[in-house]
Amino acid sequence: MTTHTSVPAYAAPSAKAPLERITVQRREPGEHDVLIEIKYSGICHSDIHTARGEWGEGGHFPIVPGHEIAGVVAAVGAGVTRHRVGDRVGVGCFVDSCRECDSCKAGLQQYCTGKLGMVGTYGRAGRDGEVTQGGYSTHIVVDENYVLRIPDSVPLDAAAPLLCAGITLYSPLAHWQAGPGKKVAIVGLGGLGHMGVKIAHAMGAEVTVLSQSLRKQEDGLRLGADHYYATSDPATFETLADSFDLIVNTVSADLDLDAYLGLLRTDGTLVQVGAPERPLPVSPFALITRRKSLAGSMIGGIPETQEMLDFCGAHGIGAEFELIRADQINEAYERVLASDVRYRFVIDAATI
Ligand SMILES: [Zn+2]
Ligand SMILES: [Zn+2]
Repeated sequence: MTTHTSVPAYAAPSAKAPLERITVQRREPGEHDVLIEIKYSGICHSDIHTARGEWGEGGHFPIVPGHEIAGVVAAVGAGVTRHRVGDRVGVGCFVDSCRECDSCKAGLQQYCTGKLGMVGTYGRAGRDGEVTQGGYSTHIVVDENYVLRIPDSVPLDAAAPLLCAGITLYSPLAHWQAGPGKKVAIVGLGGLGHMGVKIAHAMGAEVTVLSQSLRKQEDGLRLGADHYYATSDPATFETLADSFDLIVNTVSADLDLDAYLGLLRTDGTLVQVGAPERPLPVSPFALITRRKSLAGSMIGGIPETQEMLDFCGAHGIGAEFELIRADQINEAYERVLASDVRYRFVIDAATI
C-alpha cells in the first residue's frame, strides 16, 4: 500500500462551485518518481472547461486543474536517473501513457492508443487507479519519464505556459516545417497564438497574425509578427489570397474554414489546434483545387516537448504572463472567458 502526504491545492469542489483551497493526497515517490516543489502553474482554457464539468470528466470532483507546471525537484526515488534534487523541471498535459503502443514508442505519447491511453495531469485514473490531481498545488509526484528539464535561461514563471500553450504551437510549426522562406499565419493572438508568433518567428518564418480586430496589433508586431491583419475586414481575404504555406488556427470559435483555406498556396496546410464545440463545414472543392490539407494537432510528445523547451531556452522565449495569487484564480477564470488576459495567467504557488 502506497503511503501519501497531504498538500495544499486549489480545487473545484463541483462543476457549479468556484475553486477553493483544499488539501490533496500525493503518493510518496516510488522508485521512478520525482517529487516536485511547484513554483508556478499556468491557467489554460482547458482547466476552466474541466473545472466546470464541460468536458464530461464528471464524477472526479473535487478536481485540481493545472497542466502548465514549473518547479524544482525536491526528492527522487531510488531508481531515478533523469533528474536530480534541485533541477528546474516542468510537467505538461500528461503524466503517463501505456509506453507500449506505436505512438508511445515513437515518442508521441499524446496520441497513445494503448489501453491506459494518455493519462492527463488531472482528472484521469492512472495505472494505479488513482485519479490525477493537477498543478494548482505546492507539490506533485510524477514518473521521471514524464518530467521535462527547463533550461536555465527561461525563468520558471515564463516557462510554465510553455508546457501546454508552447508545445501546442511548437509541434505543428515543427511538423509542417515553419522556417526560412515559409509564410506562416497564426489565427488568434491569445495564450496559444502569442506563443505561435514567438516560436514561428524564432524558426525564421515570415509570420502573419490573423486576428478579429487590430486591437492587439502593436503587441503582435512586438512579439515577432511581420504582418497583422483584421479578419473582420473582408478585404483581408482578398489581399492575402494564395499567400501561406501554413496556417495554424488557435481559435475555438466557429470559423469559415473555406475562407481560410483560400489563403493557402498550393500544397498549403491549415492546422486546427483550437477545438470548436460544433462541427465546421468545409467544401472539398476548397481542398481539391490546389492540393491543400486540413489537419489537426494536439500538444506534443515528451521528446518534442523537451526539444521545444531547449529551443525556447536557446532563443530566449518565454510566455507573456500576468502573475496572480491563488485567491485570484476565480477572477482570472472570468477574465480568460472575457479574453481579458495578455497572454497567460500564472499562479504563484507560494500563495497556495
Ligand atoms: Zn492546456
Ligand atoms: Zn501508448
